[in-house]
Amino acid sequence: MIKAKDKPPMRDLDDLFLALERSAFRRRFRLGPRERAYLAQHGMETVLAHAKEFVTRRLAPAQPTNDGRQTPMRGHPVFVAQHATATCCRGCLAKWHGIPQGRALSAGDMAHVLAVLRRWLQSQGNWPDVADVRLWDD
Ligand SMILES: [Zn+2]
Repeated sequence: MIKAKDKPPMRDLDDLFLALERSAFRRRFRLGPRERAYLAQHGMETVLAHAKEFVTRRLAPAQPTNDGRQTPMRGHPVFVAQHATATCCRGCLAKWHGIPQGRALSAGDMAHVLAVLRRWLQSQGNWPDVADVRLWDD
């Protein structure tokens, strides 16, 4: 029997990406020429470091500022990735990812969000594969 504490806390990524593909709203998000150029110029690792900053500042607090409107629609590859993967606000994180609103994101939640963003960004072109962002320096 699976105990509650052993249950995977978040939705399986393969299952999540299949569901996103079935959403007419989510699947219309694609990197535009500007975001693509940014990614090519700065590289995936830097872009994912920005993802960590955005998630930390705009999503991680229990009550994020302007929640629901904190993620621009374009201008940075990560913003587009956030809308494409429903990691744009705490409402979407609750609905799509099973991460409850009203509490700060845990390290596990952060790792999940960053893994989702990495997977989506990598799916948008032939970018060299990079490791998941490290949440801590050891
Ligand atoms: Zn949202």
